[in-house]
Amino acid sequence: MEERGSPDGDPARNLEQGPEGPETPIQVVLRVRPMSAAELRRGEQSVLHCSGTRTLQVSPPGGGPGVAFRFGAVLDGASTQEDVFRACGARRLGELALRGFSCTVFTFGQTGSGKTYTLTGPPPQGEGVPVPPSLAGIIQRTFTWLLDRVQHLDVPVTLHASYLEIYNEQIRDLLSLGAPRPLPVRWNKTRGFYVEQLRVVEFGSLGALMELLQMGLSRRRSSAHTLNQASSRSHALLTLYISHQTQMPPVDPREPPAGGKLCFVDLAGSEKVAATGSRGELMLEANSINRSLLALGHCISLLLDPQRKQSHIPFRDSKLTKLLADSLGGHGVTLMVACVSPSAQCLPETLSTLRYASRAQRVTTRPQAPRSPKAKPLQHLETELLQLQEESRHLRSQLGQMDPKASGLSGARVAWAQRNLYGMLQEFMLENERLRREKRQLQSSRDLAHGEQRILAQQVRELERRLLSACYLQQPGPGPAPLCPCVTVPPLLCHVLPPLCPRCQLCPLCHAPLAHWACPRRELHLPQVFGSKAPGDGPLSTQPPPWVPPCCPSSVKGSRERSHSEWTQTQVLAEMLTEEKVIPSAPPLPVGPLNTSPVLRGGVAVPNLARRLEALRDQIGTSLRRGRSQPPPR
Ligand code: ADP
Ligand code: MG
Repeated sequence: MEERGSPDGDPARNLEQGPEGPETPIQVVLRVRPMSAAELRRGEQSVLHCSGTRTLQVSPPGGGPGVAFRFGAVLDGASTQEDVFRACGARRLGELALRGFSCTVFTFGQTGSGKTYTLTGPPPQGEGVPVPPSLAGIIQRTFTWLLDRVQHLDVPVTLHASYLEIYNEQIRDLLSLGAPRPLPVRWNKTRGFYVEQLRVVEFGSLGALMELLQMGLSRRRSSAHTLNQASSRSHALLTLYISHQTQMPPVDPREPPAGGKLCFVDLAGSEKVAATGSRGELMLEANSINRSLLALGHCISLLLDPQRKQSHIPFRDSKLTKLLADSLGGHGVTLMVACVSPSAQCLPETLSTLRYASRAQRVTTRPQAPRSPKAKPLQHLETELLQLQEESRHLRSQLGQMDPKASGLSGARVAWAQRNLYGMLQEFMLENERLRREKRQLQSSRDLAHGEQRILAQQVRELERRLLSACYLQQPGPGPAPLCPCVTVPPLLCHVLPPLCPRCQLCPLCHAPLAHWACPRRELHLPQVFGSKAPGDGPLSTQPPPWVPPCCPSSVKGSRERSHSEWTQTQVLAEMLTEEKVIPSAPPLPVGPLNTSPVLRGGVAVPNLARRLEALRDQIGTSLRRGRSQPPPR
């Protein structure tokens, strides 16, 4: 015997596992209704035999080879409504819906096979007469369980419901306040396919929900035909929306709230028009039903094809496939209850349903809790709030550790610590003030020294200029050479005035080029400096150099022996110099390291200048004294 197997194990276990994996197959439960009284009267035989809890065997009436089908669960005609409810794992689906998943239960099968009975029990016996609790279907039992479950949740939950039917490819609101009118199906990125302007009713009790169910059932189109006295002529979709009160409500109040969904789909049964004897409007309805079921079967076939799974699935071919798109190929969790009649008369449709259901259970979805974009910022804020609370707790605990009472410090020790800290603070403030004063004094001293330095440098330059001019004016004859200017003036200054000659010698001390008047060959270029007529009697070329720097070995002797002309020269020089009295002075300078920058120390250069000025003065004074004590030669 051929067996069509289910890829899954125990249905209850599979359903209890939940959508933890990346892909979850559609769960299929098969229900075989009992032989009806009419079928028994006609002497029809049953061709279906349940083998265990998961296998159904189909035995052809003529005795040919049988076929076996495996499903998540197989329930025979003796099963009660409660058995079906348990086998379907409807409670698990309800839990998933509470966690935010989109769950769907849909019944499928030939007309008269027991789909509506499985979902909602037998047709109402009269206006306002409720279904007996023992015959209540999956919907009522799930409602009862859900309302009870919600009451025991920590987080308050808001419940809404909508109920619609697809009749002749038109969507009608079964909960509309007025007469139902066709509603359009729209699509957007966040909601997928949805029915526009569908009434979504909030309810708070099981009674209210049952009333909504009865209202929809009573408004749903049904007709009598050969196979079913109360045949549904439309596909009906009853949806429960479960949202937590922490979730953001929708901007448009007509939109269903974001959160979990639990949808029950009661499909109209496929029917052979010849078998049901439908005429006129009934035939039109049957064609419409069959067309939409065909579209559903086509989508399932394409979803099964591994190569075409990623390609286009024609969900737009019918309103039914549009509204089931998420349940079949999207992010929902889906359960199919396939219903079959055991009668041999219905075998072709039964085999078709079984093959259809076998294929469906190989279709997989990727369950994912829907998150609307409006809920995302809220979730982000919640996360941030939790982080802040954690941080606050951490800081508080740290503060508790620093608390003297918590750390066990005595009051005396705290007072001592505080006093010490206060004392240290005062000391630092005084020290700071003292350093500030010192800094101010140093700055003023430095400024003063700079000023003095400038004045002295100016005076030294003037004295040098006069000294050099006097040397030229006197034009001394042979005799001891004057001092090299680099001894008395800074090297850079000593050769600046008068201008340098490119052919001059270098000073042996400072290695700077000597001034033209100190150059042994100065006669060659003096006219360029003083003009065509040089001061003095004789030609410059015949006169010896005014002096040779004392640092030069040849000048040692000359510095000791002074001639008359030397005294004359010194006297003139002294007269020129004594025109202006220069008294070097400088304020006491702060003591600092020797290698400190002159600018920073504010006057290291000043004593040098003063010393040099003093040397000049001494030299001039000595010369004057010598000049006065020795009369000039006649
Ligand atoms: P469908 O919705 O598939 O067209 P229904 O649910 O309307 O079929 O069932 C057709 C008839 O069979 C109804 O009168 C219903 O009471 C009866 N029926 C279906 N399933 C069962 C069952 N398991 N036990 C008893 N009666 C059933
Ligand atoms: Mg029905």
